[in-house]
Amino acid sequence: MPLTRPDLETIPRYVAGKNPSDVARESGIPEAVKLASNEVPYGPLPGVVEAVTSAVANTHRYPDPGVVALRKRLGERYDVDPGRIVAGCGSVALAEHIVRAAVLPGDEVVYSWRSFEAYPIVTTSCGATSVQVPNTDTHAHDLDAMAAAVTERTKVVFVCTPNNPTGTAVHAGELDRFLDRVGPDVLVVIDEAYREFVRDPAVPDGLVAAKDRPNVVVLRTLSKAWGLAGIRVGWLAADPSVADAIRKVVTPFSVNHVAQAAALAALDAEDEMNRRVDLVVAERTRVLDTITSLRADVPDTQANFLWLPLGDDATEFAASCEKRGVIVRPFAGDGVRVTIGTPSENDLFLEAAAELLA
Ligand code: PMP
Repeated sequence: MPLTRPDLETIPRYVAGKNPSDVARESGIPEAVKLASNEVPYGPLPGVVEAVTSAVANTHRYPDPGVVALRKRLGERYDVDPGRIVAGCGSVALAEHIVRAAVLPGDEVVYSWRSFEAYPIVTTSCGATSVQVPNTDTHAHDLDAMAAAVTERTKVVFVCTPNNPTGTAVHAGELDRFLDRVGPDVLVVIDEAYREFVRDPAVPDGLVAAKDRPNVVVLRTLSKAWGLAGIRVGWLAADPSVADAIRKVVTPFSVNHVAQAAALAALDAEDEMNRRVDLVVAERTRVLDTITSLRADVPDTQANFLWLPLGDDATEFAASCEKRGVIVRPFAGDGVRVTIGTPSENDLFLEAAAELLA
């Protein structure tokens, strides 16, 4: 008899993007550039290192479990009552807490597929059943099919916009229609990890959509645009009763003292964050223009990455990029996600792509 749950055999492992040190060790290729984890490449925002350094002096004390200062600051910045905000050890942890707070064994969680690879993991590990709704031919959420997939067992629906890994984003009209159709009895999680990179005015702000719909939860992160991937801070906005329920299942102290200090400092550097995101967005346009001249089926992207729908060639393409010193993220049998990096990193990728896709 196994000592742990046999159904865990059925879920894939979370696969993180490789680091340059992994590639150096495995393949002897030194200093590969990493375009595999949707990080912003410009280092911590100004003030973050100093805030972290001074917070370290208090590491013998437990952090504030209520994350009060950060929730207050987020509340001011985003015009959300702090009572509606829950902070967590990255938004991936919060995604798990939401499901844990909502489902009983046998309940269903609906999401598009392919989407963020954590959704099947958190669903199964909480004892619920995944209902995966295929993306459209243009790699976007099929919100009509997702609404149709909701049953009386459905407790949570994830809407990932922009969608990881395809970069597509849902538009305001279709989101409203979808929320009307799903109704008030199912939690709809709008996962906006890449919100800061959105430039299409038709893409709604989930926080606005959530204002008068108590069943909508908005998930945000400081990992991407705000440059704190390594420190782990995410947050959500929800109806106060939902937020309170989620807080019950959050691992106590999961946003540590150093992380809280880093997050506050990052939020103070919003102008610089915007400047960096603008650089990424300009590079996104340049890279996408070149790539679409090589392959017409690459979808538009509103995130800091793009999607190459290479199907069965995905793994080999990624391995060939790696040999050329560029680490991208393959999804076997489906496609490859490429993060937008600095101009010189993107040039390296474009050189590889020109050879490999020609
Ligand atoms: N949601 C989406 C759509 C993501 O792509 C990611 C990161 N890959 C996350 C949530 C989690 O980010 P974090 O835990 O770093 O906040």
